[in-house]
Amino acid sequence: MNLLFVVSELAPYSKTGGLADVAAALPKALAATGVTVRVVTPRYGFMTAAGEYVGELRAPFGFQVQTARVFREARHGVETFFIDAPAYFHRGRKLYGEPDDPARFAFFSRSAIELARWFGEPPDVIHGNDWMTGLIPVYLRSALRGDPFFARVATVTSIHNLAFQGFFDLRDLPYFGLPGDLQRGPDGLEFGGAGSMLKGGILASDALTTVSERYAQEIQTPEYGFRMDALLRMRRHDLVGILNGVDYDEWNPATDAHLAARYTPADLSGKRLCKADLLKRFGMPVELDRPAIVIVSRLSDQKGLDLVRDVAWRILHAGAYFILLGAGDPRYEVFFQHLRDTAPRRVGVYFGLNEALAHQIEAGGDMFLMPSAYEPCGLNQIYSLKYGTVPIVRATGGLDDTIQDFDRVTGTGNGLKFRAYNANRLMEKIYEGLLLYRQPETWRALQRNGMQADFSWARAAWKYRAVYERVRAA
Ligand code: ADP
Repeated sequence: MNLLFVVSELAPYSKTGGLADVAAALPKALAATGVTVRVVTPRYGFMTAAGEYVGELRAPFGFQVQTARVFREARHGVETFFIDAPAYFHRGRKLYGEPDDPARFAFFSRSAIELARWFGEPPDVIHGNDWMTGLIPVYLRSALRGDPFFARVATVTSIHNLAFQGFFDLRDLPYFGLPGDLQRGPDGLEFGGAGSMLKGGILASDALTTVSERYAQEIQTPEYGFRMDALLRMRRHDLVGILNGVDYDEWNPATDAHLAARYTPADLSGKRLCKADLLKRFGMPVELDRPAIVIVSRLSDQKGLDLVRDVAWRILHAGAYFILLGAGDPRYEVFFQHLRDTAPRRVGVYFGLNEALAHQIEAGGDMFLMPSAYEPCGLNQIYSLKYGTVPIVRATGGLDDTIQDFDRVTGTGNGLKFRAYNANRLMEKIYEGLLLYRQPETWRALQRNGMQADFSWARAAWKYRAVYERVRAA
């Protein structure tokens, strides 16, 4: 099995969210199952250390042949190719959000296809991710139809977040090198007046995956479907939910180099040292028996932060610390900054991306809040399990698949889970957590239930492999 994995962000080089973590870990796990994996990703302007120059790529785009420099790196049995096209990818620290995003990622998609020609044998499967690569299967079925090199190449698109649909102006199709008549009709990319790259991926790929079984069901409903539910129902037989794994080489409190101390399920004493370290980092008094409620998150409505905002004062009145690491919507930054300025001995906030601090918060916290409105998979609740930080989550998407509500009688369950999107339901679960925290035996049982669970990538990799085998056979 020979795979080309095309993705617009890749940890540790470029990252806006969980997709970058998947891009780093899944190829590695696939390689371990015996798949030949090549990863293709942009070389954004700030990635000056990524790979070694290996040559120049030529791709037809914008009514001409454009060139890009290609850099290569080989690690963990995976070859990664970085496409360096300054006109498209050198935009400061920014990955997305530019007015010409459609052209930038159409070019990325088109050049990834051209790169496939470098390796002699065509790939069995090209696997793209989200709207940024949605045009890959569209190119293969239209502009490259009849090209013998690609005649037997199958395509897979993974949906990591349906909310981002890659809208573009349909009049740009010829500029992208696609037939103008791809606008309408059953294969048309038209979606609510504009074009949608994600729609292209959904319609033209041989198989679709998304990042949890629950989310695979949810996106077929109007509530979670972002108006694409009908399309997804149409393709439901080709849509598979595969829960993301986590990379325990990176996220393991027994080995984590970011931490003040290390710990295991058998000996949690290091976790208290991590908590003391965390409180000091935020300049708060170190009162180790006071529970610490923590969040690491993009600050966006998706993450249920309006519920957190509604309960924030009640959390403080209940006697807990509140610590938040996040970046995004300024409305939330203003609110949480205000909270911290009002109660600096109880609240710690950090706005920005900070990988080390994300680890330190996972280790030093007692409870992790993730009351998302929707959550395709979610990684932080899985990291929290491993770090003995009890997740309090809303029952949606991957949160519902990974967290079982704790049952005091049977001692089963690895977290606390509520259903309705409502601040009072969240607060009830927080109160339940605070009560359980006062019962050290029970609390430790709950922590251990989480720490012992195994969400490593190996299982997911075999499931992806099965999808590749299926589309190849077809
Ligand atoms: P999403 O992809 O929707 O943002 P996930 O839970 O799937 O949510 O993945 C989020 C990833 O981003 C995790 O690896 C998390 O640790 C990381 N992350 C989120 N915000 C920050 C931040 N401010 N600093 C460092 N890492 C962050």
